[in-house]
Amino acid sequence: MKIAIIGAGIGGLTAAALLQEQGHEVEIYERNETVEELGAGIGIGGNVLAKLAGHDLAKGIKNAGQLIKAMEVLDDKGKTLSMATLKENTVNLTLRRQTLLDVIKSYVDPSTIYTNHNVIRVENNSDKVEVHFAHHDSKSFDLCIGADGLHSHVRASVEPESKPIYQGYTVFRGLVQDIHLKEPHIAKEYWTKKGRVGIVPLINNEAYWFISVNANEQDDKFKAYAKPHLQARYNHLPNEVRMVLDKQEETGILLHDIYDLKPLKTFVYERTLLLGDAAHATTPNLGQGAGQAMEDAIVLANCLKSYDFDEALSRYDALRVGHTKKVIKKSRSIGKIAQSSNGLVIKVRNFITKLIPNKLISNQTKFIYKMKDK
Ligand SMILES: Cc1cc2nc3c(=O)[nH]c(=O)nc-3n(C[C@H](O)[C@H](O)[C@H](O)COP(=O)(O)OP(=O)(O)OC[C@H]3O[C@@H](n4cnc5c(N)ncnc54)[C@H](O)[C@@H]3O)c2cc1C
Repeated sequence: MKIAIIGAGIGGLTAAALLQEQGHEVEIYERNETVEELGAGIGIGGNVLAKLAGHDLAKGIKNAGQLIKAMEVLDDKGKTLSMATLKENTVNLTLRRQTLLDVIKSYVDPSTIYTNHNVIRVENNSDKVEVHFAHHDSKSFDLCIGADGLHSHVRASVEPESKPIYQGYTVFRGLVQDIHLKEPHIAKEYWTKKGRVGIVPLINNEAYWFISVNANEQDDKFKAYAKPHLQARYNHLPNEVRMVLDKQEETGILLHDIYDLKPLKTFVYERTLLLGDAAHATTPNLGQGAGQAMEDAIVLANCLKSYDFDEALSRYDALRVGHTKKVIKKSRSIGKIAQSSNGLVIKVRNFITKLIPNKLISNQTKFIYKMKDK
């Protein structure tokens, strides 16, 4: 089958790797000049690696990843509010984003990745789908996979009403080297009145950090922030936070507003389908955006291998739409609780969080692991 994949991000490249392996004629179109990931680090949950089980890609990701065994939430004085151990028998990893992308890309035939190809729209015909580019002639395919992210042009072609929804907070991110964290298998979040500060270990004594603050969309105040502003804002936090911010270089701090999508009713539109953020962009509170994009790709490849074309697409839809809707909703609700800046609400929240047994907190995300893969 002749397949176009729009977007060479984590989702698009995973789909390309698995579908090329099945013998499909796959072409990947990326609007940027290079295949690059903006971002510091990323968490890939055991749900993804379990689904990739027999595939070499899982080994590649494991080799480059730092094993994470628990997620700890602390208050601004460093007191533990909760410690959720990650599901036993699963491998939860953190990696540099670019490393993850490079590992996935190494399973894709490089001659099939077309950079500088900006897709402006797609058009379903009776037995083909036509992909239109900004500066190249259009091309037709049997199937088009829209993996072009949050602001997807493919989604705009098939579901024009769907628009990203700003969630009221913006996130700074960075990557530090030569850092010796005391607990290199625990990802931490400090929940403070001035936002959340996360510290996530990576291999080779590296770590990535994020700071999530309530803000207006495209907030000029935070756009003007540099390292010293962040250091001043969080100098009351425990040593570990100050140490990480000290290690950050003056440049290289990223800032992104956080959006998600209203869950769609379908990801399949005749010969066009949506995958990853294009289909179900979610807030980063569960650390599942990229993981779900990879799961989409795995499920799609399994379905195309096991069923005829129409059945495969409808199985993909049935398996992914409801599941990712749950992820969007759960992640959004965690964000609402965690981003609270009202002193009284924070006191009550922290008090209740401490009372909830850790096992109950871990159980809240169990649904992520319960997912059929074809
Ligand atoms: C602050 C933050 C922290 C996060 N942390 C995590 C985490 O820890 N774990 C996790 O799993 N997820 C995390 N995520 C989410 C994760 O980054 C996304 O879910 C993931 O990158 C989605 O992958 P994707 O391939 O669907 O889309 P993208 O990564 O957005 O890739 C889309 C690709 O399509 C290309 N493209 C776009 N438009 C066009 C066009 N018109 N024509 C051609 N190409 C186009 C883009 O250039 C890009 O290469 C986080 C997100 C944010 C904002």
